[in-house]
Amino acid sequence: MSKATGNDSSGAAREKHPGERDQDILDRRALQSRMSQIRHKILVLSGKGGVGKSTVAVNLAVALAMAGKRVGLLDVDIHGPSVPKLLHIEGMPISGSENALHPVEVACSPGMINVMSIGFLLRDRDDAVIWRGPRKYGVIKQFLKDVEWGNLDFLVVDSPPGTGDEPLAVAQLLENADGAIVVTTPQEIAVQDVRRCVVFCRQLNLPVIGVVENMSGYTCPKCGEHVSIFGDGGGRAMAEEMGLPYLAGIPIEPEIVASGDGGTPMVQAHPHSKTATAFGRIVRALLREELVETENKAGISDNGHAMRIAVPVTGGVMSSHFGHCERFVLFDVGEDGKTVGSKREVVPPPHEPGTFPRWLHEQGATVIIAGGMGSRAQSLFGQNDIRVVVGATGGNPDSIVQSFLEGRLETGANICDH
Ligand code: ADP
Repeated sequence: MSKATGNDSSGAAREKHPGERDQDILDRRALQSRMSQIRHKILVLSGKGGVGKSTVAVNLAVALAMAGKRVGLLDVDIHGPSVPKLLHIEGMPISGSENALHPVEVACSPGMINVMSIGFLLRDRDDAVIWRGPRKYGVIKQFLKDVEWGNLDFLVVDSPPGTGDEPLAVAQLLENADGAIVVTTPQEIAVQDVRRCVVFCRQLNLPVIGVVENMSGYTCPKCGEHVSIFGDGGGRAMAEEMGLPYLAGIPIEPEIVASGDGGTPMVQAHPHSKTATAFGRIVRALLREELVETENKAGISDNGHAMRIAVPVTGGVMSSHFGHCERFVLFDVGEDGKTVGSKREVVPPPHEPGTFPRWLHEQGATVIIAGGMGSRAQSLFGQNDIRVVVGATGGNPDSIVQSFLEGRLETGANICDH
């Protein structure tokens, strides 16, 4: 996944596109400026409706937040905005001003996601049906441009299905998206639709991050027999045939319907289910890519400084009790971004809430790798320009940092100490 360049709000935005009016230029500038605060933008697409695109978008956003990322979820599926229902935030009034809409915050321990849905705008589901093309385009643009997302690691966009004008508008408006995750079911007809969807992405120069096969078989909870209700492996075969990464297969699980109806996404309601494991795999693939493509480049961190990684240790191994570690090891990453140039140990001041982020910032740390960390501490580190990687396992700080730099650090659940 390539890092979104995003911060070209001055240069590219000033150029006038053919036929563009002054208002269009202002809008484009506003959109680019808004989007420049978001590191990665991922579209969730499908060849047709009903294959589980929104279910994937919601669970992916929550799984990323559970892995310690700052996440936004934007639902612009104009004819079937189901995100509010899936998160139990239906009918929320939109607050803020016309050009600065506030997203709805949804807690998903240990983090939260910022959510905005076109569904908040529709009085009833049929409203959008009577909108003409330009109105739909305008509404989608407004949602991308005017929502106050703030600084995010990921924005997951639940896009309208198919390859018509609406997904086209989303893909074009999100000029520098990292790419699309394409959702399909194993059924031949869905796979054909998804092929069209992949061709559509290629025509738009939108990278396809990978394919997710949803409703990928059902295992009977009583006898354990596996039944391929919609066929078997169609999504995987299509991904192979088209040279695309196959990210995961999500089984049919009745709990997905129940948790969706109940407003608690499956990855949260059933964190040990096969579905949650599949989303863990997708998140790890995204984060591995993210690490390789962005931070490892020339050892430069997000804020443009040389990368200095802090790891809390006690008795020589990574401390799972982050707030009460004996010391921090600070690793300075070389210019190649792949090796450690030097390291030193520092003893922290007495632990009080808020002390460590400030103090580590003064020590020049740009990244902290921890086993677990509460959401409040994560946000304080973020405010101090320190990127947080949580859920790291393994004891030896040197090998943890090396794995991180090589993009193969396995991160599991955020085991928060408190
Ligand atoms: P789309 O966004 O593609 O229209 P949805 O995510 O709204 O699809 O899903 C359609 C329906 O299928 C919902 O009722 C949802 O709960 C259900 N569903 C989605 N994925 C699964 C699955 N893996 N197992 C069981 N039900 C699922």
